[in-house]
Amino acid sequence: MTVGRQEVLAWLDSLHETYSENRQLLTDLDSSIGDADHGINMDRGFSAVKTEMDSNALPDVRSILHTAAMVLIRTVGGAAGPLYGTFFLRAATACAGKTELSSPDVVALFQAGIEGVRQRGKAEPGDKTMVDALLPALASMQEKLEQGASLEEILDAGAAAAETGMLGTIPLQARKGRASYLGPRSVGHQDPGATSSWLLIRAAARAWHGRTA
Ligand code: ADP
Ligand code: MG
Repeated sequence: MTVGRQEVLAWLDSLHETYSENRQLLTDLDSSIGDADHGINMDRGFSAVKTEMDSNALPDVRSILHTAAMVLIRTVGGAAGPLYGTFFLRAATACAGKTELSSPDVVALFQAGIEGVRQRGKAEPGDKTMVDALLPALASMQEKLEQGASLEEILDAGAAAAETGMLGTIPLQARKGRASYLGPRSVGHQDPGATSSWLLIRAAARAWHGRTA
């Protein structure tokens, strides 16, 4: 399959549902090592994206992703707002001029977005952040693409790698963001941002092949 305007809108719809359903989970995770707002932030942001998409029929993939980025930057707040805003801004740029995204285009979208998060937040792997879910997801998607896998297989592999990376944040000590203030007391807790990043990729896997990953 290829990913066009409708599929990108379906991903954003799926993200709205996902963050609404997982609002409590993300907030509980953030209450252990942060300030208990990550679920609220993500739910507010993607609700606002949904409202914007429902009221404004944007013409193409780039403008949809770009508008989502601007809404997220305006509404999410916290550390995650600028980071996910940057993800969607860079993803939009990667899709400029395209009406249908092939598998390499989809991987390029995630690559651009994830590199944007890294540049903006300057987190390294192992710092206990969203990067610990996003980077393994990207590596896994690139590997599947090189092997000639289908888009469905690429996204499933990305979601699975993100989940493993997310679980891998549990024993880590946070070195970036609010959780880093806790020092060794941040050990033993799953990172909220790595969890929302897993959900970001899982939502694409679900939206773009219609079965649960
Ligand atoms: P805040 O910490 O400002 O309340 P959120 O609760 O919305 O913001 O988001 C917290 C998440 O942001 C963390 O769990 C972590 O994954 C992510 N995060 C924080 N700082 C960075 C960074 N510099 N790079 C990547 N991710 C980060
Ligand atoms: Mg927080």
